[in-house]
Amino acid sequence: MSHDLPYHYTPVCDVEGCDHPARYKVACRWGDGTQNELKNYGVYCAEHAPGELEAARDRQRRIHLGRQEELGPVQLFELVEGRRDAELIPVG
Ligand SMILES: [Zn+2]
Repeated sequence: MSHDLPYHYTPVCDVEGCDHPARYKVACRWGDGTQNELKNYGVYCAEHAPGELEAARDRQRRIHLGRQEELGPVQLFELVEGRRDAELIPVG
């Protein structure tokens, strides 16, 4: 599955038991020298996004990168209908 499809659906918050529509994506830029993409940590409603952002930053500190691999900081991206991952703007 590609993570760079235009955003044309209404996802639900990834927090278990939460059925609010997801408004933000927690993700970071990832690259290995030939490819660049957003590594997706999940999509969350406005209420859960700040806490999940912190949790994802925590988790990222324990990731072991392969040679050539580079990770940007984990950021919050606002989900915008019709926009590709590459066009999302970080808001936090
Ligand atoms: Zn939620």
